[in-house]
Amino acid sequence: MPLAIASALVVHLTGHRVRLPRTFEAWGLASTQAEAASYVIRRDPGEYPMGVPYYERKTHTFTCDKWSWTGLGSELGIYEMYSEIVEWACPNCGEKLTFSAFPNREETQAAADAGDQQAIDELPGFDSRGRRWRRVLETRESDVAAPAELDHGDVRCVLSTVKDEEGETWLTLTANRLEIHRELAAWEDTEPAHRMLAPLHQRYGERLRSFNWEPALQYLAGDRLSYVSELDKLVASLPEGAGTSSGNERRDD
Ligand SMILES: [Zn+2]
Repeated sequence: MPLAIASALVVHLTGHRVRLPRTFEAWGLASTQAEAASYVIRRDPGEYPMGVPYYERKTHTFTCDKWSWTGLGSELGIYEMYSEIVEWACPNCGEKLTFSAFPNREETQAAADAGDQQAIDELPGFDSRGRRWRRVLETRESDVAAPAELDHGDVRCVLSTVKDEEGETWLTLTANRLEIHRELAAWEDTEPAHRMLAPLHQRYGERLRSFNWEPALQYLAGDRLSYVSELDKLVASLPEGAGTSSGNERRDD
């Protein structure tokens, strides 16, 4: 699941509130990634089945009661991977033993300094993702334009993605086929749809007929099916919703 890992790392870099997988909450753990990370680190790894820091796991000894396996965390298999955590399994019986939050930049650096080859290999990607995320945030600060062409009549918006000549993916917002905003696209992040729709609603009121997010769906929702219904709800109050059922899509796209 390389994309899930990538997005987890992005989340770590940003430190903003994130959705945690259900298992995390089921274990009564923290509600934000930042809290979760510090929680995990504070715990004694021996307090099974609490989480262990990702890299420290490798040298910690684990015991599985089932068929009395004892061994190093580096021998554990992957039980399941979520965007924020990875669950580790007993290599002997496959039972879930513990979990780790994906390491942040500092933890990865510390592990690399201590000679961990995996951490050394991951650092460059970490840095380039960090740089890109900072650019995403910069481009998000640009306003949604209000061209005079939109002062009267119906307004139909389409959120889409385009690739530039350098291979960068951008999220573009068009209204009646005029581009009114552009920012770097971020994987599995519906925030832009919410942020863009609010001022459009305010500005155009009833004249805003539809907001079609479907051309950008692959980026906005990624692997998260629940985001589709979230986006559906977001535009449900518009007269034409996402505007895809009445053939507006073709005209505006
Ligand atoms: Zn076992």
